[in-house]
Amino acid sequence: MKIDISSLEQESLQFDERFMVEPERLDTEVVTTQVAVQLTGEVRAEGEAVTVFGQFHAEGTVACSRCLEDVRWTVDEPFSVEYRWPENASGDDEIGLEEEDLDVSFLEGNEIDLLELAAEQILLTLPMRILCDENCAGLCPTCGANRNRAAACECPTEVDPRWQALADLKNLGPES
Ligand SMILES: [Zn+2]
Ligand SMILES: [Zn+2]
Repeated sequence: MKIDISSLEQESLQFDERFMVEPERLDTEVVTTQVAVQLTGEVRAEGEAVTVFGQFHAEGTVACSRCLEDVRWTVDEPFSVEYRWPENASGDDEIGLEEEDLDVSFLEGNEIDLLELAAEQILLTLPMRILCDENCAGLCPTCGANRNRAAACECPTEVDPRWQALADLKNLGPES
């Protein structure tokens, strides 16, 4: 999934690629299955830089931030990434500029790796917090059972004061 840019001079190159990104390639624990990616766009040489821009579409499964159950995740956003040739990036011996600071990637050889680009876009667009449901009850802090399931476990939980009155009534029954 690489674009050869060795012939890229004044003209631009178009691309429309679909591929899968393995969760192992992503520096996150949140993505649980392969992510289906579609990248469409253009590569354009602009002076000493090469810009890749277009539309990024991805569909995958991520873990709910509370209960860790799989949640469907899709994203469809424009993207733009700038690449530079390493020899143009620093000028002299000033290698003080880090890739991260510039929001620029350096080219290695004459290829742009779309798989790598997609992996970066996935990490950039993943929300900080994903919930299977706004009311997700999460995991039991004692045994780890998913509390969204009926009768997940019987660990004692902090009682909601609204239910306390009911519990008190029950305790007045014959068993107590
Ligand atoms: Zn959940
Ligand atoms: Zn429990």
